[in-house]
Amino acid sequence: MRVVVLGAGFGGLELASTLARRLGDRVQTVLVDRAEGFVFGFSKLDVMFGRTDVARVTHRYADLAHPGVRFLRTEVRAIDPVRRRVSTDAGDLEADLLVVALGADLDPAATPGLVEGGQEFYTMEGALAARDRLAAFRGGRVLVGVCGTPFKCPPAPSETALLTHQYLEAHGLLEHSTVTLVSPLPTPVPPAPDASAAILLAFEKRGIGWLPGRVITRLDPGRGVAVTVAGEEIGYDLFLGVPKHRVPVVVATSGLAVDGWVPVDPATLATAYPGVYAVGDVTSVGTPKAGMFAEGQGAVVAAHVAATVLGADPPPPYDGRATCFVEMGEEGVAKVDVRFVPGSAPAGVLTGPDPALAEDKTAFAAERVRRWFGHAWTDR
Ligand SMILES: Cc1cc2nc3c(=O)[nH]c(=O)nc-3n(C[C@H](O)[C@H](O)[C@H](O)COP(=O)(O)OP(=O)(O)OC[C@H]3O[C@@H](n4cnc5c(N)ncnc54)[C@H](O)[C@@H]3O)c2cc1C
Repeated sequence: MRVVVLGAGFGGLELASTLARRLGDRVQTVLVDRAEGFVFGFSKLDVMFGRTDVARVTHRYADLAHPGVRFLRTEVRAIDPVRRRVSTDAGDLEADLLVVALGADLDPAATPGLVEGGQEFYTMEGALAARDRLAAFRGGRVLVGVCGTPFKCPPAPSETALLTHQYLEAHGLLEHSTVTLVSPLPTPVPPAPDASAAILLAFEKRGIGWLPGRVITRLDPGRGVAVTVAGEEIGYDLFLGVPKHRVPVVVATSGLAVDGWVPVDPATLATAYPGVYAVGDVTSVGTPKAGMFAEGQGAVVAAHVAATVLGADPPPPYDGRATCFVEMGEEGVAKVDVRFVPGSAPAGVLTGPDPALAEDKTAFAAERVRRWFGHAWTDR
């Protein structure tokens, strides 16, 4: 069986490595990505706040060595879901089973003023530029703002507000600075009230401003204000922004997306096209856009492939479970176990925050590096 996996992020890596582990070279998997290596989302925050550098957090795809898996570094240009054919800069690929795991793209230009007058931090380039802006910052009003929904990792803007506060304190800038978070969400982590309460308490202790239920629609850099949908103006000296998200252009032009994202069967991750699946941020499956959900979905598709190849019963449906780690500055790290099941309210359980949970987060990441790349994350 020829399996083509587009995108080597959380979803694609989990899928390809699980297929290799379970089926060896009984399937030929081609894993396609344009990037040199994989970077955990949270590593961008580590880079932004000067805790590490890009080389230490980039896991090179050249190191992938799974039986039956070929990594192809190239740009995906077109997807034909009917024929299961993909055009890339390295030629065409044909698949018996095609999996779209291309994630969500960012669109900073869709928010007027953001590129000229603010700084996104959701890409590695943006995180590096934010690091430089923080280094040059002499104090003032820092506004962390979200420019659209859905957005990746709902707790990340809260983490950014807390880590910015910690950074300003460490650099002696706190006395003449403020930090405010503007979020479209009603609480920092809506499915987990305990986690939201812990984050809001941490904001309160530090005097971090919290403006929920608001989306930033434009910046007016000349006047130093960010403007919300309702027309409210919020002043800033440094704007750290989460840009609008959109489906990658190649997915939009493939016909796979409906109302912006790729609809899938929430139990199997199958699209409307026979033999075509989609996992992770590119979908509208109903889970938040976060790595652990993409990973769980990749595992379900791998289980379907294994069942087909081995002639076994279909696997159980996708369970919507994930664990998220939330950086909370001095309080340490919080862990939120959350479950999204279609038709019922999502439920999250909080552990911590506790400085000791930083080790759990490190172990979580190291385990994935070992599983996906076959070696230890020695630089961590
Ligand atoms: C600052 C930040 C912090 C985060 N923290 C967390 C966290 O703590 N926990 C958590 O679970 N999630 C976190 N996330 C979210 C997480 O990174 C994403 O939700 C996750 O990576 C989605 O996985 P995916 O497999 O769907 O897509 P991705 O991991 O985004 O992978 C998609 C891949 O497709 C490739 N690609 C896209 N288009 C093309 C093309 N045309 N041709 C070739 N290749 C292409 C990309 O290079 C990419 O490697 C964070 C995100 C950010 C930005």
